Order: sequence, then structure tokens, then C-alpha cells
Amino acid sequence: MTLPSYLEGSWRTGAGEGTPVADAVTGEIVTRVTSEGLDLAAAVAYARRTGLAALGELTFPQRAAALKAAALALQERKQELYDLSARAGATRRDAAVDVDGGIGTALVYASLARKGLPDHTLIVEDDPIPLGKGGTFAGRHVLTTPRGISLQINAFNFPVWGMLEKLAPALLAGLPTIVKPATPTAYIAAQAVRIIADTLPPGAIQLVAGGIPGLLDLLGGQDHIGFTGSAATAARLRADRAVTRRSARFNAEADSLNCSVLGPDAVPGQPEFDLFADALVTEMTVKAGQKCTAIRRAFVPVQLMDAVSEAVEARLARVVVGAPGAEGVTMGALVGLAQRDDVRAAVARLTGAREAGSIVYGDPHKVEVVGADAERGAFLSPLLLRADDVDRPEPHEVEAFGPVSTLMPYSGIPELHELIARGEGSLAGSVVSHDTDFVRQVVLGAAAHHGRLLVLDRDSAGESTGHGTPMPQLVHGGPGRAGGGEEEGGLRAVHAHLQRTAIQGGPEILDAIVNRDMQTGEQR
Ligand code: NAP
Repeated sequence: MTLPSYLEGSWRTGAGEGTPVADAVTGEIVTRVTSEGLDLAAAVAYARRTGLAALGELTFPQRAAALKAAALALQERKQELYDLSARAGATRRDAAVDVDGGIGTALVYASLARKGLPDHTLIVEDDPIPLGKGGTFAGRHVLTTPRGISLQINAFNFPVWGMLEKLAPALLAGLPTIVKPATPTAYIAAQAVRIIADTLPPGAIQLVAGGIPGLLDLLGGQDHIGFTGSAATAARLRADRAVTRRSARFNAEADSLNCSVLGPDAVPGQPEFDLFADALVTEMTVKAGQKCTAIRRAFVPVQLMDAVSEAVEARLARVVVGAPGAEGVTMGALVGLAQRDDVRAAVARLTGAREAGSIVYGDPHKVEVVGADAERGAFLSPLLLRADDVDRPEPHEVEAFGPVSTLMPYSGIPELHELIARGEGSLAGSVVSHDTDFVRQVVLGAAAHHGRLLVLDRDSAGESTGHGTPMPQLVHGGPGRAGGGEEEGGLRAVHAHLQRTAIQGGPEILDAIVNRDMQTGEQR
């Protein structure tokens, strides 16, 4: 029953009872997660010794080929991951976001690296920059692989995508990875590692199921820590001495109160009105709203509040909650009962004692469920809230990490900008309007508070990738509350794992240093 960890090239089981992980739909125990007694120091040493050396043997295109092989192995066996994802409450559509999204991300990275990185182990960023009048002294920037590892600590909601979007740039940069998946879905991440382990060089990937006590004590300035999860955990890790004293690179992707804005031009009957309502319902229901990019605050012109509320309620009434795979089900379960308790508590804060908002659709304690028992499984109705008093702090502060969004009115662009800023930094925002001037003003005012902004209108809707979908070619992350980090963004993410060094000297020496043909095998 205990989920093994993949360490030093073999699967090893931790000691003790471990944390039980229940099936999100039936409540049966799926596995137990523990890392007790596992030698994590040996795992770090193995990554530094074996993984770093094996990846260092490969040029960027060779690493890209290994990454592609891993993605294709997953592609071949993705049904196994869908089946496990269903036990975590994910419908086929939800699993596609995680599994296919992850595979697609790895393939995009492999392709970008093959086309955009040199047949080398270092990147030369620029031509020699003259630093003297006589032409005998210059400088240029190179990016090389740190002598470290990449530790990735992931959130529960994307066990496959979250792992691959961090693995891809680390692998391409030549850094061996240790994955620490979130306990509730660690069994899905572990299966993905099982599938890809043999496609990668030895030591390139390891996985710890369970806690990682003492592991950060082993990390320092050559290492990279990529974290995704709650703002509270991000704050704790950011304060670790590995980061504060030894300057391990630390990137955080945390929660955020993402917004979507409806333009005043998008009245009922206009395509943008329907696009807004559809997108909101999609964001509320995909992965039962357990998406870091989901729309939490929906800003609507004050005069359209009732019309939008009715349109969204009508769509939510068509959502069928139940067991993934059961007839007609369009929304699955939350990952577990504890998560449902958290969401209910957040909704109580958003609506409760101090009457910050009201529920206009759904009941947090009651939901009709198809193909499962509503109480044994972690089911929750989609919940549409409405907060007419936009000055209340709760809708701008409380993240209900489930199928929950709040409608809020605005009266003009200055007020809208203020409301957007009150989220204190978000991963993703969207503007739904066909009025170019309105869109321009909103985007320029909102950009500083966002990592990504999507404009949706009748012309782009057909090809639009949607509010909640990070793209490997574009940056994912956000300022402030969203963690202050940046992932993806094409090759930017690879560069972020490398060390940039300015090298100064005579032009010939500079050439000799960066020219692969002049290097011995060992140097390469
Ligand atoms: P979480 O409780 O913060 O956990 C995230 C990860 O941190 C898990 O792997 C957890 O392991 C680990 N962790 C917790 N304490 C740790 C410690 N002291 N040392 C090392 N690792 C530690 O978050 P979650 O509940 O899994 O995820 C939900 C949150 O993530 C939401 O708030 C959501 O908005 C955010 N999120 C953000 C993004 C993004 O891209 N920005 C994506 C997805 C989710 P255990 O599970 O074993 O405790």
C-alpha cells in the first residue's frame, strides 16, 4: 500500500504508517505516503554525482531528444495516468489538462531547444562587446550549467503537468531533478516517473514520496528550487537558510485571486457577453476549480450584474457533478475531503459572518451527484457568489480553491484598475470586450499586476487557448501574491536554470573559450 520513492535509480519504500491518501470519489484508501527512513542525502549526492555528469555529457539537442523520448513514452501510456487521475476526482477533460498538457509542454520544450539552442553545452549570449579602443579587450556573456540540482516541490492539482513543466527546462539546462509531489496526488506523479525513468540519463530524475526533512539543508547557491503551491508554504520555503543564507535559486508559483473583466460594450446579445459567461463557467468547473489560474473575481459593469448573473446561473444549472466517467458527468470531485472542508471554510469567509457576499448559485453543503455517494466522495456544487460591496477585503484576499467565483460590479476604468490591483498580484487575467480602446486601457493598467493577460473577443475566440491555460511558449507566474516568480516563457525558463557569467579578455581568448570545436571532450 505504501507508495515507493524513486531514488538512486531504484524504487524504495519509506517506513512507518505514512499519510493515507483516499480515493476522491469513493473514499477508499489508494495508498500511503511516507519518506521516513529514506536516505535523502544520498539521493542529493547521487543527483550531483551521477545525474549531473550524465547530463553534462549531452549537448542541448541531445537533452532535447531525451526529453522528447520521455514525452512520447508518456503519450504511449497516458491511459494509465487518466485512470489514476479519475481516482483523484478528475474527469477525462480534467485529466487531459494535466496529462496531455504536460506531454505537450515537454514536446514544445524539446522542439524549442532543438531549434533554438546550440549543439553545445553552453550558450553564448552576445558577440564580443569591445571594452577598449585598441580592440584587444572585450567581454561577452555565457550561460553554463550550475554544479547543482533542481528540486521541484509541486501542488496537488497538476501532478503531471506541474512536474513536466519544471522538469523540461531543468533537464535542458543539464540539471538533475528531484521531484517532491504533493501528497494527495503523489501516486499519479510517481506513475509518470515510472513511465519516463528509463528514457532519461541515469540520475536525471528522482522522486520523493512524502516529506523532505533536511533536504533543503543540503542545497545552496548552485541549486534551483522550483515551488508551486500555497502562498503560506512559499513564504516558509523562501525563509529557509538554503535561500536566505546560501542563495539557492528559488522560484515560487503561488495562489492568486485572478480576475476576468467584462467590457461595457458586451451587453446581452453581443458575442462577448456569451464568451465571458462560458469562460467563467469553464474556469469554475474544469478540475472542479482547483486551478491556480481559475477566475476568482469576475468584474462586471454595474448595469450588467443581473444579466451576467442570470446567464452564468443558467449555464451552471447544466453542470452535472459526479464520478469521473459516469454518464453525463461534466464536473468531478475535489481532490479529497480535507480540500472540500478548506473550500467550504473559504466560502464561509467570503459570504459568512460579516456578509461580504452572497451565494447566488449552489449550496456548499448540498449537491446532487451522479454515480457516487455525495458524502463519501469530495463533491461540491459549483458556487457563484456575488459581492456588491467591492470595498470588502474578502473577495480580494480569500482564495476558495474549488469551483467558486465571485461576481463584482465596477463603474469605470479607474475603479476597475483599483479593484484589479487589490488582488496584489495574479497569475492570469482576462478582458472580454470588442472595444479596442477599452481593452487597451484595461490591459495597460493591469499588466503590472499580472504574469499573463488574455484578451477574448469574437475574432480570436475560435483559436483562443483560454483564460486558465498557461502556454509553454509564454511566461507563467505573477508578481506579489502569485509568488513573484516566472516559469515557462519558452527558452527563458532554460536560461533561468543556467548561470550567466560575463567573461572578459582578448577577443581570441574569448573565441577559444566559447568555441566548441576547440574544446576537449572533458571540457565539453
Ligand atoms: P501546499 O499545501 O502549499 O503544498 C504545496 C507543496 O509543498 C506540496 O508538495 C507540499 O507537500 C509541499 N510542502 C508543504 N510544506 C512543506 C515544507 N515545509 N517543506 C517542503 N515542502 C512542503 O499547496 P497545495 O495545497 O498542494 O496546492 C494548492 C495551492 O497551490 C493553491 O493555493 C493554488 O493556488 C496553488 N497553485 C499554484 C500554481 C501556480 O502555478 N502558481 C499551480 C497550482 C497550484 P505535502 O503535500 O506533502 O504537504
